[in-house]
Amino acid sequence: MEDKVSQVVRASAPSVIREMFQRAAALEGVISLGIGDPDFHTPEAICRAALADALKGHTHYASSQGDPELLAELAAHLNRLHGFGVEPSQLLITSGGMGGLAACMRALLDPGDEVILPEPYFPDYEAHVAFAGGRLALVPTRAEQGFVPQPAAVAAALSDRSKVLLITSPNNPTGAVIPLAVLEELARLAVERDLVVISDEVYARLTYDGPCHSIRNLPGMAERTVVIGSFSKAFAMTGWRLGWAVCPPWFTPHLLNVVTHNTSCASSVSQRAALAALRQPDAVVEAMAEEFSRRCRTAYEILSKAPGVTLSPPRGSFYLFPKIGCIRGPAREFCLELLEKERVVAVPGESFGPSGRGCVRLACTVAEPRLSRALERLARFIGNYAV
Ligand code: PMP
Repeated sequence: MEDKVSQVVRASAPSVIREMFQRAAALEGVISLGIGDPDFHTPEAICRAALADALKGHTHYASSQGDPELLAELAAHLNRLHGFGVEPSQLLITSGGMGGLAACMRALLDPGDEVILPEPYFPDYEAHVAFAGGRLALVPTRAEQGFVPQPAAVAAALSDRSKVLLITSPNNPTGAVIPLAVLEELARLAVERDLVVISDEVYARLTYDGPCHSIRNLPGMAERTVVIGSFSKAFAMTGWRLGWAVCPPWFTPHLLNVVTHNTSCASSVSQRAALAALRQPDAVVEAMAEEFSRRCRTAYEILSKAPGVTLSPPRGSFYLFPKIGCIRGPAREFCLELLEKERVVAVPGESFGPSGRGCVRLACTVAEPRLSRALERLARFIGNYAV
C-alpha cells in the first residue's frame, strides 16, 4: 500500500537529527548537543497564567488570526523591540514558527516556483517548499566568511522562476547573524527582482553582539517581507507550539486563509501563555539569552583550540557550527563514532546543505558542567580522529 503515498512525501528525507536521537537513547551517559530545545523550563508565571486562563474558559477555538489581546500585545512588543511599526491586523498567530513557514510556502508558491535559500539551512524548509510544490535554489556560504550569505552569490542563483528569498538570521545551524550592510544589499536585490522575502527571525532575541537587524525595516521591504517569529526559543516555550507571522497588508488575508484551513487557529491555552510571556519583564528573556551567550563563548573557547577547527565567534542562536579539518568524508560517520566512543551527540553538517560538509552542529542547550565536559570529549575525539 505504501505506493499510495504521494511522490512528494515519499521523496522527503527522514531527519538525521532524529536518527542521532534514537541511537543516543540506546546508550548510557550520553550528553546531547543535538537538539535545539532550550533546557530551561517555561517560566512558572507563564504556566500559572495559562492554567488560570484555561480555568476561566479560554479553552475554545480562538479567532483564526489569533487571540485579540495577544495580537495587540504582540504588536506593541514588536514595535518596541524591533521598530516594526505594525498594526495587530498585520499579525497572525501560528502553530509554532513552523506553522507560519509552512503556511507561507503554501500561500506563495505555484508549482515550479523557486525559493532562493542560503545554505546550510534549517532542514524543515525543504519539506515546506516541496509540499507546496515549489523548488529550492540553494546559495552556498563559507565557513571562512562566517557563513554569511554573499549577495553576489544570491544574485547568481536567481532565475525567472525565483519568487521568494528565504533568510534566517540568527541562523540555524550556523549561528551566523547577517550584518546590516549585507541585509541592505539583499534588500536592494529583492526590490530590483521583485522577490518576496521570508525572514525567519525565530532566534532574534538570542544575539550576542547587540540586537540583530531585520530586513523588514529597510527601505521598500515592509511591503514585501514576511517575518516569522516564535515563542519557542527566547521564551523557552517549544512545547506550547506558538509562533507568529508579520505580514504586509496584501498578504495577511491569504496567509489567514491557509492557516484557517490547516489548523482553524493556534491553541487558545498556549496563546494565553504567550500573552503572559510578553507581559513578563524583558529581564527574564535577557537572563536566558545571557546564559546561552556564556555557554556559546565557553564552547567557542574550547573548540577553537582543537586542531584543524575553523569556527567564527558566536553571534546568535545557541548553535555552533565548527568546520573540523579531520572530517574527510561524511560528517555522519564522524558523529556516529563520536557518539559511540565519547557519548556526545552532534549533528552532521551535511544534513543542512552541501556547505555544511566537514562541519557538525552543536546546540548549547546543556548547562555547565556537562557542556564543558561534552566539548572536552569532542576536542579529545578530534585530536585522535585523524591519527
Ligand atoms: N526556524 C528555525 C530556523 C528553527 O530553528 C526552528 C526550530 N528549530 C523553527 C523555525 C521552528 O520553531 P517553532 O516551530 O518551534 O517555532
